[in-house]
Amino acid sequence: MSKVVDLSVIVPVYNEAENLPPLFQRLIDTLDKIKQPYEIVFTNDGSADASLDILKGFYKSRPDVVRIIDFHGNFGQHMAIMAAFERSRGKTIVTLDADLQNPPEEIPKLLTKISQGYDCVGSYRANRQDSFFRTYVSRLVNWFRESTTDIKMRDQGCMLRAYSRQIVDQIVQSEERSTFIPALAYKFSFNPTEVEVKHDARAAGVSKYNLYRLIRLNFDLITGFSLLPLQIFTLFGMTISALSGLLVAYMLLRRLIVGPEAEGLFTLFAILIFLVSVVITGIGIIGEYLGRIFQTLSHRPRYIIREVIEKKK
Ligand code: UDP
Ligand code: MG
Repeated sequence: MSKVVDLSVIVPVYNEAENLPPLFQRLIDTLDKIKQPYEIVFTNDGSADASLDILKGFYKSRPDVVRIIDFHGNFGQHMAIMAAFERSRGKTIVTLDADLQNPPEEIPKLLTKISQGYDCVGSYRANRQDSFFRTYVSRLVNWFRESTTDIKMRDQGCMLRAYSRQIVDQIVQSEERSTFIPALAYKFSFNPTEVEVKHDARAAGVSKYNLYRLIRLNFDLITGFSLLPLQIFTLFGMTISALSGLLVAYMLLRRLIVGPEAEGLFTLFAILIFLVSVVITGIGIIGEYLGRIFQTLSHRPRYIIREVIEKKK
């Protein structure tokens, strides 16, 4: 398939059987109205429910616009988008969640910005409809990202975004694996902007991010785009070395003036345990970066595709 279209809409799908039919209907209604050639690329990210069969049904009904990438297993939302990026043919590429939290009706708003010459159209959610916990964690990570990286965006978690072909090509070429697509896109953009979009509660099913996956994702964001965690460690280590150097000098003096002492054992323990825990955290942080290097250097495929279902042209 090499025919270029104006617009590619990319949807990662992981166990979204109930949401897919209304999503598809609303997408088709919105995109048909735009009256430009488009394609919808669904990546089935190892769903265990009926999602793949439903997607195949969409392909049967609209083979002219639907393409399906079926992953062999679950490789994560960002890799699902990456695979679709690689195969997309649109001059403009829009990403969207499958759970109807991002209303498809907002897509024209993003396209207007693209036609005004912006190459990366981010979005922030008006009245975010997520749990208090999720919203709070997001705010914390947003703040941390703002202060540790040069990536400026109001709401990194909102995936309803539009990119120019050039940015998507750069993302694909970067060969990153555990990455965070909106941040990567921002890095490559010359002229980014943001718009406000509506946000709905998940139509059906539950979030695919449990606490562990949420932590992993946010680690990817920080370690993928900043060295500050490592640098904080070096600075902390230097400060502690300086302070303990002073302490040694003081203890030496006391030894000469007061003579041998053995009090303060528990204080010593407390300080030691604290420092050991800091060291362990440090090793962990180094491990995060080392793991990324290892993954990149091992040259294994980022994801494995079982089948691509699309009209042969
Ligand atoms: N998703 C995916 N693979 C995953 C996790 C999520 O393709 O491993 C998809 C999911 O089907 C949805 C989108 O990514 O279309 C966002 O996921 P979710 O709504 O669970 O995230 P949240 O809105 O809670 O951040
Ligand atoms: Mg969601």
